[in-house]
Amino acid sequence: MPGIPTESTDSQFKSMGSMFNQPNPTSSKPAGDDDSKAPLPKGVVLDKDGKPCRTCTSVASWRALTKQADLNKNTTSSSSSSTANKMTTSTPALAAAATPSPSELPSDCPPDVEQLGRSTWTLLHSMAATYPEKANAEHQDNMRGFLKFFSKLYPCWVCADDFQTWMAHPSGQNQPRLGSRKEFGWWMCEAHNEVNRKLGKKEFDCRLWEERWRTGWKDGRCD
Ligand SMILES: Cc1cc2nc3c(=O)[nH]c(=O)nc-3n(C[C@H](O)[C@H](O)[C@H](O)COP(=O)(O)OP(=O)(O)OC[C@H]3O[C@@H](n4cnc5c(N)ncnc54)[C@H](O)[C@@H]3O)c2cc1C
Repeated sequence: MPGIPTESTDSQFKSMGSMFNQPNPTSSKPAGDDDSKAPLPKGVVLDKDGKPCRTCTSVASWRALTKQADLNKNTTSSSSSSTANKMTTSTPALAAAATPSPSELPSDCPPDVEQLGRSTWTLLHSMAATYPEKANAEHQDNMRGFLKFFSKLYPCWVCADDFQTWMAHPSGQNQPRLGSRKEFGWWMCEAHNEVNRKLGKKEFDCRLWEERWRTGWKDGRCD
């Protein structure tokens, strides 16, 4: 049976990491150490190891990053080549940089922060939709445990940090409410609205969560 490769195959990320060589966002490295490095395009979030975090970044920002990496590579190689090459501007990287990026990735690419979010909300609201009408103690404990670990392990770490902070509000008002499907579905809707507000999106009317996620809309279009 083939084994798991010992070397990770993330050379693309490694080269991006060194290309931009950003400080670890959680480190206390003094500012100014990286003055010579290119600034990251707007919206690119770094992982805790200092490399770009794809699941924390939108497609648009990710593509700006890969274009910048291509351009940097191109600039480096052309500066060490002939004068004729230096005059050439119609390289694929430059052409790509001038072309607007589609805002959607093909469906078989790793998810960006938005696709990951949509898929995750589908899972979370569906868990609420299939939660017992009245949950016993064991069911409540299981869900509490799930949410605790989910909020630590969610693959967008900045999202996870904010979600944990929201749940742990000192008033206790954001603790998961797990007594029944109605309570839990409403709580999940509030949790989602918290993220909607943070991102400047319209809030969802929580009175409609069951139609959206469990029964389908009253007009019958989901039947
Ligand atoms: C825990 C968590 C934290 C996140 N944190 C961040 C973050 O910090 N930064 C970031 O950029 N992205 C974050 N995301 C992703 C973000 O919430 C969205 O999923 C993403 O921006 C795509 O948004 P969307 O507009 O396609 O719809 P989504 O917000 O993904 O919603 C999907 C569908 O759910 C329905 N819906 C919307 N609001 C509600 C609600 N309140 N209750 C019930 N149904 C609703 C709507 O029909 C909507 O089309 C997070 C996701 C999760 C799961």
